[in-house]
Amino acid sequence: MANEPSSINPFETARRQVDIVAELLKMDEGARAVLKYPKRELTVNFPVRMDNGTYRVFTGYRVQYNMARGPCKGGIRYHPSVTLDEVRALAAWMTWKCAVVNIPYGGAKGGVICDPKHMSPGELERLTRRYASEISGIIGPEVDIPAPDVYTDSQTMAWIMDTYSMQKGYSVPGVVTGKPISLGGSEGRGEATGRGCAYVIREAAKDAGVRVKGGSVAIQGFGNAGSVAANLLYDEQGAKIVAVSDSKGGIYKADGFNPHAVEEHKKKTGSVVGFPGAKSISNEEVLETKADILVPAALENQITAKNADKIQAKLVAEAANGPTVPEADTILFQKKTTVLPDVLANAGGVTVSYFEWAQDIQGFFWPLSEVNTRLERVMVQSYADVHKAAQQYKVHNRTAAYVVAIQRVVDAIRIRGIYP
Ligand code: NAD
Repeated sequence: MANEPSSINPFETARRQVDIVAELLKMDEGARAVLKYPKRELTVNFPVRMDNGTYRVFTGYRVQYNMARGPCKGGIRYHPSVTLDEVRALAAWMTWKCAVVNIPYGGAKGGVICDPKHMSPGELERLTRRYASEISGIIGPEVDIPAPDVYTDSQTMAWIMDTYSMQKGYSVPGVVTGKPISLGGSEGRGEATGRGCAYVIREAAKDAGVRVKGGSVAIQGFGNAGSVAANLLYDEQGAKIVAVSDSKGGIYKADGFNPHAVEEHKKKTGSVVGFPGAKSISNEEVLETKADILVPAALENQITAKNADKIQAKLVAEAANGPTVPEADTILFQKKTTVLPDVLANAGGVTVSYFEWAQDIQGFFWPLSEVNTRLERVMVQSYADVHKAAQQYKVHNRTAAYVVAIQRVVDAIRIRGIYP
């Protein structure tokens, strides 16, 4: 790992970001306060029967941050270090992400404190079904639609969908997204994050004067988001993928790899490391590679005050959530590096989740070409909105994205009025 995760309380960071935007938008105290508190928080403590016959009590959360623009949307995370403040921050960021891409959702997030690596599939199923049951009073297609996040997947979503449907007495596919296609999942959801990222890179490169065709790209994290972005930049935009990494290390080749071949190698050996003809490099070196474009697609807190100055790419597209710490943002902005912030660069995932929900509630499914065309339209428009705000307020793209998002949320709150 390039850097240790920061110990900063993420909810404090999220609230500080609201304050910065509130100043820029000259927002009144009332609106500012609404944006700094989650609307609804549920904590549940519930027992789960373990395989050895004992039972254990787990703690889970669901935080619905703001629903002024529509039902809440956000993933569920299973991790030993989940905290209520982390879930609050992630719920706030989901609110801004949905608003940046202008899909009719508020933001939410859920989490269960558990160690899924040390639980059997049966234990995980029982935990998921009981947690789903405990939060079932506040989720639903019109209220709050969960999705996968860290250590949850399409199987987890299938269990939640089934549990919720059993309680209702009929099938409710629209209660979660990220489902298997056979249960009402959408075509294109699997590659939506990487695809959305490739679209905004194409758009931003024109404004930043960075060439994608023939240009070089370094990718940290060759997983779902990173490998899809690599393949599409290579196949559709003619970019040279010169460096990639995963948790075991990185590889470099000055004249570029075929990312599909790297993917095959990873499937066979479990890592990109050892790819024939490539030079082994460290993860730090991947970030600092001489490349036109850098795509952090692994973990949070990777670009910090310590290494921001060494980033050579002119365009950084955050496929990962939170890869850049705030001090590094300032350094990159001063260096005139264009950063495409996570709430924009990885919002392709939530956008196709929205398409999945729209298809589920209509009971009418779209072909892949329609999903991708609509995704492209959303990403192109969202980039244009953020770029315009960055120029208008003379701020970096992250603050600009928050300006666009928070303005949309505040507009919805104002037009609705304060009840009663
Ligand atoms: P993934 O598990 O498929 O891939 C993560 C990759 O990062 C793996 O290849 C892993 O080996 C690698 N990795 C782990 N530690 C690393 C390290 N120290 N250095 C370099 N590589 C390392 O996960 P993903 O779904 O691709 O998610 C990656 C990031 O994208 C996360 O921040 C996630 O929150 C974000 N994201 C993903 C989606 C999505 O739809 N998949 C949507 C929005 C945001």
